[in-house]
Amino acid sequence: MVPGPGKPRAGGAKDGGGPRHGRRGAPMKPLRVAARWVLPVSGEPIADGAVLVGPDGRIAAIGPDRSVPRPARADEVSLGEAALLPGLVNAHTHLELTALRGLVRDLPFADWIRTVRAIKYGLDPRIYRASARWAVLESFAAGITTSGDTGTTLQAASALAELGARGIAYHEVFGPDPKQCAESVAGLEAALARLEPLASERVAVGVSPHAPYTVSDDLLGAVTALTARRRLKAATHAAESVEERLLVEEGRGPFADDLRARGIAVEPKGTTTLGWLERAGFLALRPLLIHCVTAVPADLARAWRAGATVVHCPWSNAMLGHGRADFAAMRRLKLAVGLGTDSVAAGGGHDLFTVVRQAALGLEVGRGLAPREMLRLLTLGGAEALGLDGVGTLTAGAWGDLTAVRLDAPASLAADPEEAVAWSATASDVVLTAVAGRVVYRAGRWPGVRIGAERAAFRAAAEAAATVSRSVRPRGILAR
Ligand SMILES: [Zn+2]
Repeated sequence: MVPGPGKPRAGGAKDGGGPRHGRRGAPMKPLRVAARWVLPVSGEPIADGAVLVGPDGRIAAIGPDRSVPRPARADEVSLGEAALLPGLVNAHTHLELTALRGLVRDLPFADWIRTVRAIKYGLDPRIYRASARWAVLESFAAGITTSGDTGTTLQAASALAELGARGIAYHEVFGPDPKQCAESVAGLEAALARLEPLASERVAVGVSPHAPYTVSDDLLGAVTALTARRRLKAATHAAESVEERLLVEEGRGPFADDLRARGIAVEPKGTTTLGWLERAGFLALRPLLIHCVTAVPADLARAWRAGATVVHCPWSNAMLGHGRADFAAMRRLKLAVGLGTDSVAAGGGHDLFTVVRQAALGLEVGRGLAPREMLRLLTLGGAEALGLDGVGTLTAGAWGDLTAVRLDAPASLAADPEEAVAWSATASDVVLTAVAGRVVYRAGRWPGVRIGAERAAFRAAAEAAATVSRSVRPRGILAR
């Protein structure tokens, strides 16, 4: 459960009921899905179960197949040997960077981020549209229905809105030089003015001061005030790397060198990253704290007291050489924790099943995760971390966000369906994904999407990114 009082209902998400309309304007039909197993996550598995999603996009009934109504005009899907579970929640990603897949590998973190930045600024901004859209389609095929995205190009919010996904688009703010503060805040306000019309019952807008090495004290204070005033959701990359810890706590290391090279004064902050966020009032916004690898238990307790939440990204932490976050301490504190793939540029893909197994493997033997806890992390845990109600669980009244995983693969044969999904499923076992009762992926197809055109646009974006990557050299991280 989320500690302390619930997250503020913020972020521009309008929770509305009533009949909705499909993307072509026709009223939504009920969706009825039956499967060998229904795994509600918040309760016991249901053998030969079914879920009915009403025209309002919310779950109207769940239970044994024979007990779930069959409205005459419902779209019916019978999946056979499969497990139906809540749509997966990827609590941290950078959808717009998907075109950078595989381009920057095996570099120390400061060099890695400098290189990613250099590629990013070398690209035609139009490629981000194709990149973010493909990332959403890839996420659907991996069973992900909700994404917590951080980005700068506004394309993730558009892609989530247009393709029928659920998510929060946190707009990133940069400005390590205190002199940039007013300009950065003006840029944020302009971006929010463009993002807020995209907000809906599915897509919320948030704010993300990027990280301690890219945000001045003044800017953190100004963004905290703006976020509170506008009641937006908040997120930040926090306590991610040793390099960040050296900058914050000791005023040295590669990030400090980059800042000084730009004429920006650097002093130790006299506290940790989470202490810095607390001092600025940012923790009081109950933000999503991304990574928390170097956060010691006292820091995590600080986050818990404030009602902040955490997204654990063990795959990207390992890929970037950050080491292991203290996931065991997060569990002991009962912090609300979700899982994130992080960007494909850091990770490798949008397969959350792989990520949850890595989270489980990071725990001491004897204090590991039961299969249902793993499924919970993939779904309800992520929803709690993002502060989303009615998401991540199959219960009457919750949103009809569904993922189905085949159980007829050789490695999926197990007596316990939760065990089979938690330890054997991969993204390629997903056979159906629906958001608010609308099927967005079914056995290799994305209904209503011109997939050939999307694939061609993404390939062109990835090739453009590869071309730029061959021409860039690591350069000042704080180049803007
Ligand atoms: Zn990130």
